[in-house]
Amino acid sequence: MKVGILGGTFDPVHNGHIAIAKKAKEQYGLDLVFLMPARIPPHKADVATADVHRLAMLTLALSTEPSLDINLMEFERDGRSYTSDTLTILMKDHPDSELYYIMGEDSLRDFPKWHEPATIASLAKILVAPREKNTQAFKDLIALRSEEFGQVFYPLDLPYNPVSSTGLRECLENGTPSTELPARVNDYCRRFGIYTKKPTVLRKETVALFEALSERLKEKLHIYRFWHVTGVAYTAANLLAERYEAMHRKPCEDGCYDEVQQAFIAGILHDCAKCMSIPELVTYAKENNVPHEEEQEKIGDVLHAPVGRFMAEHEYGITDLVILDAIGKHCLGDVEMNDVDLAVFDADYFEPYRDHRPLEITLSELRDIALKDITVGAYEVTKASILFLKTIGAAICTQSYRVLEALKKRLKEKNTASAEENETISKENESTMSEYTSKDLAKTAYAALDNKKAFDIRVIEIDKVSTIADYFVIADGNNASQVEAMVDEVQMMLYKTYGIEPKRVEGAKNSGWILMDYGDIVVHVFSSQDRLFYDLERVWRDGSTLDTSDWGENPAEKKD
Ligand code: ATP
Repeated sequence: MKVGILGGTFDPVHNGHIAIAKKAKEQYGLDLVFLMPARIPPHKADVATADVHRLAMLTLALSTEPSLDINLMEFERDGRSYTSDTLTILMKDHPDSELYYIMGEDSLRDFPKWHEPATIASLAKILVAPREKNTQAFKDLIALRSEEFGQVFYPLDLPYNPVSSTGLRECLENGTPSTELPARVNDYCRRFGIYTKKPTVLRKETVALFEALSERLKEKLHIYRFWHVTGVAYTAANLLAERYEAMHRKPCEDGCYDEVQQAFIAGILHDCAKCMSIPELVTYAKENNVPHEEEQEKIGDVLHAPVGRFMAEHEYGITDLVILDAIGKHCLGDVEMNDVDLAVFDADYFEPYRDHRPLEITLSELRDIALKDITVGAYEVTKASILFLKTIGAAICTQSYRVLEALKKRLKEKNTASAEENETISKENESTMSEYTSKDLAKTAYAALDNKKAFDIRVIEIDKVSTIADYFVIADGNNASQVEAMVDEVQMMLYKTYGIEPKRVEGAKNSGWILMDYGDIVVHVFSSQDRLFYDLERVWRDGSTLDTSDWGENPAEKKD
């Protein structure tokens, strides 16, 4: 892996940063390029802009740059963010990677004054972008440093671009527009008054309440949790402001939207119950009669949402039901979600401090989708969290499936109502929303089992003899790992093709019989021994076995 790192303060991030990161990737064939914000830049001790904003601006800028990533390792490390420490850790953790450190000409000029420059030059190849007009001076500097450090420093073939964060801060302070600032970053700065201290989307009283709540929460929550709730507040408020401005929705007389205030306050409070352990949450819920589902209590952690709603009302004095409901719904979502609920739900998943998870969809993609439409965002977030929980083998609340279905229905209705909005839904979603019959599901399950070389796949039509389902799909595998592979393949193919999840799965991983109930079809995967033992075909002999000889390469062998 060739990994590029562009370290910086990003106060704010600008098109110059993005251009040099992309050029490095292209010119030197890098597999990955990270923009790595320094929490405490060694050479700029007086960064006045709050960390949450530098990070939020970076995530917004990269929401439209799928080839670039963010790495938070310097943000999460205490003390000054020394590059030599960062590269040493990266090399230790990824000894097979080749590191490329990207910097501008001004940084190269100061390089000998950096902390342990020789270590940096020995751990990474250094790629340098011009930052001054004089091309000869640039070449000379590269040659000089190469000689001094006994390593080659590599130039980036880019024209000199005079943009700087310092210049942009001045523009923003004076209200002068600049094309060097990504549009979403520009909007964010204006909305929250990042460099002017005059927010346009938040009322004074909202800011005052937010600050008072922050003071209290800071005392109660772990520092990372506190960063997260701050990130959710700004992200949720920004998502809603973006939505309403794009819709040209008329604001209140003071130019603000009520929902933006509500999302902001719900965001900061949404995890207020995370100061408790799971047993404490269970006790608190019981002692205070906090309404919740039995399933939430079983899974434990998800209880923090209803408990948080209760605490927000009784301990933090919130009376606005919109805020309280958004807190109560933030964890699992709900079949009924208003704009504030959706914004907090979405923001919780991809606020800027969220670490990248091994998802099929990146956080940048999720941000981009949600900034275009918060409902599509919620749908993708729900799908991503179900998949993630599955990947790590965690329990999944059935509420998540209900929410997924409800969002899918809502998007489908919206699609019919507006062909234009249809475009915002990814092609994959469109296919998941297409109509299908129970036979289509049975065929896909059959194909999935066939892919994993299942034995004796049979499809029994039972709709005439039972109301349980239309079809049973039955197959067996040689051993536990084949059975597991068959189960995974069925779930993956039905999910990919139709966007559906089983309503219920029974049978433990290593058991000889796993049942996946999809409503219209039920798929039974057995170990060969258990299939003989249970002999479902005999139990369901009143149903008729379908002729599947043309469904796949492994036609069902009929048993006597
Ligand atoms: P400031 O004006 O506050 O010094 P900056 O624009 O240099 O900020 P940083 O976040 O400090 O932004 O920069 C990160 C890295 O990107 C540095 O190595 C810097 O030299 C490089 N860089 C920033 N802007 C440019 C640019 N326009 N051309 C080439 N390199 C740049």
